[in-house]
Amino acid sequence: MRDDKIIQVAINSPLRRVFDYSAPKKHQTHDIQVGMRVQVPFGNKSVIGIVVAITDKTDVPAQKLKAISDVLDTAPLLPSHLYKLVCWSAKYYQYPLGDVLAQAIPALLRQGKEKNTLDALEKKKLTPHQTHGLIIPGPLLNAAQKNAVQNVTKQISKFHVFLLHGVTGSGKTEVYLQILKSMLANGQQALILVPEIGLTPQLLTRFQERLGLPIGVVHSGLTDKERLLTWLWAKNNELKIIIGTRSAIFTPFANLAIIIVDEEHDLSLKQQDGFKYHARDLAVRRAQLENIPIVLGSATPSLESLHNVERERYQLLELPERAGEAVHPLFKLIDLRRQKIKNGIATTVLPVIAEHLKQGNQVLIFLNRRGFAPVLMCHECAWVLNCSRCEIPMTLHQKPYQAQCHHCEKTQAIPKKCAQCSSTQLINIGAGTERVEEFLNKEFPHIKIARIDRDSTRRKGELEAKLATVQDGTAQLLVGTQMIAKGHHFPNVTLVVVLDADGGLYSADFHASERMAQLLLQVSGRAGRAEKPGEVLIQTHHPEHPLLNCLITQGYMEFVRQALAQRNKANLPPYHYFALLRAEAVTGSVCSEFLQAAKQILKTANNTVQLMGPAQAPVEKRQGRYRWQLLLATKNRSHLQQLLHHTLPLIEQLKEARKIRWSIDVDPLEML
Ligand code: ADP
Ligand code: ZN
Ligand code: ZN
Repeated sequence: MRDDKIIQVAINSPLRRVFDYSAPKKHQTHDIQVGMRVQVPFGNKSVIGIVVAITDKTDVPAQKLKAISDVLDTAPLLPSHLYKLVCWSAKYYQYPLGDVLAQAIPALLRQGKEKNTLDALEKKKLTPHQTHGLIIPGPLLNAAQKNAVQNVTKQISKFHVFLLHGVTGSGKTEVYLQILKSMLANGQQALILVPEIGLTPQLLTRFQERLGLPIGVVHSGLTDKERLLTWLWAKNNELKIIIGTRSAIFTPFANLAIIIVDEEHDLSLKQQDGFKYHARDLAVRRAQLENIPIVLGSATPSLESLHNVERERYQLLELPERAGEAVHPLFKLIDLRRQKIKNGIATTVLPVIAEHLKQGNQVLIFLNRRGFAPVLMCHECAWVLNCSRCEIPMTLHQKPYQAQCHHCEKTQAIPKKCAQCSSTQLINIGAGTERVEEFLNKEFPHIKIARIDRDSTRRKGELEAKLATVQDGTAQLLVGTQMIAKGHHFPNVTLVVVLDADGGLYSADFHASERMAQLLLQVSGRAGRAEKPGEVLIQTHHPEHPLLNCLITQGYMEFVRQALAQRNKANLPPYHYFALLRAEAVTGSVCSEFLQAAKQILKTANNTVQLMGPAQAPVEKRQGRYRWQLLLATKNRSHLQQLLHHTLPLIEQLKEARKIRWSIDVDPLEML
């Protein structure tokens, strides 16, 4: 092989390009392979990059071409399937390859500092095998569970996507366990993605007790050392199972046999800043590259996944019944229009709460709004205390006593006088969890209340302590935000009250009704999980709303059918493909100028992708910056991909781009 080859290197830099180098003097080009780390001169520094291609051509003049200073690996760092996934993600999400590689490779490896760490650990004799060997048998599966397990396990070594739809408590986790048990018998490995780290400790113990295999956990809270070790142990097949949040999708495996994505509808699987990837979608892509089955599980599958079932791309597996003795809860809409509401609770609801408490059962009050009151208003002139950086009302808090912006976390003292007319008649409008707790404390003085939200669980151990008082029955009333909506088992909860269902009914984001439906079902899934039947009361000003009615009378699948029909008619995803070009700056006009210029470039390059805007984002300002967006929509996904691929390098060069922050979000899940 000739040694005048050009080596293309991806470097972790914000530029959308790779850099050309010549081979180092002491190395033959054939020693260098795609996927290896190399040390290269970059500007006046020396940095580590990854070889992404070896070619013959370069635009760099020969005298300017620099040589690689060192080759750090003897083999590519990432297994080839994973390397392909990384390249695919960079292309699909229009993100620089060097930055995507940085997500896939632990920091210590990127810095070339792994050796010292590994030597130190070697001395400590740390191993991944921390299991006790004790295996607890699971329950006998019911017919639907068995059917699900059989369907999946017969697809060994073949790409196939399953959507496991089972209401909360229907035994999905048991299905996962059985699948793993039969598939991991011969040294094979599994990847399990979960939305939140709060749920992983319990899951980890359950998996360990049942499978007796070495399991690694991946999440954003790991130290660099822990991340490196887990990464290497998974790559060397010493860990058989990796349970992790979205970034775990980039874990290397020696012998991956199956991927499971739990709560596949959950928003936290999508990274919302920087590299905006959806871990579920990447998981499906990875399963395809590795030619293995994948199971997406949820009580409330996403519209995207159910649309894929409709198109016969995914196979639906249903668990229609709750496992064991539990039965489905009973729903009832509470019309707020013709009755008094005190501190967020309708007067007709209070006696129902009292009755359930009298029976010795537990009651869960759900309100997705922390703090005491969401608005402070002047009774004389209607002035509202707004965050100066976001221009939205600040939330009042009692403990500590202050006003807080829930967008940017800015805090300030609660004013005693109106800023406009100096009146001292300032009133709290609306209710948050703090206020509901205070009110219920007065209404039911002998009942212990556990309030679970971000404020009441900030300190380490607080969440666990509060959950424990619910589990052991000391706390009979539970007030909480979406923190309580997921995962937890509260067997004695027989009544769930949803204080405000209206937020999701009318929103500038078309995703809102889907989110509302999922949240309502997840919360109500907390009721009647054991033998006791559950009751769910939903407070709303729109009891006639068709989607809300459909959801509670006909169930989630019919809701999805209607919601999909609406999306289809309105040319919305998943029928059309969206990408959102966002701009943020301290003045709105520079955002608009940048997006106008970008639109010109996009327009010149295509005629099939629809361009909508630029327009102010529905949330116009955040943290002192104005927000604008340009929406790209098309029926043809590859047109969109090609357009972005060709135009983003030009958009990046725009002089307006230097004055603002901009980003591209492919398949945006949040349009505000
Ligand atoms: P999900 O993951 O769908 O919420 P789980 O798998 O956690 O459901 O099951 C809910 C509860 O029901 C657990 O306590 C589990 O042990 C129990 N369970 C699951 N399947 C069965 C079964 N076939 N027979 C008896 N109990 C079961
Ligand atoms: Zn006033
Ligand atoms: Zn703010």
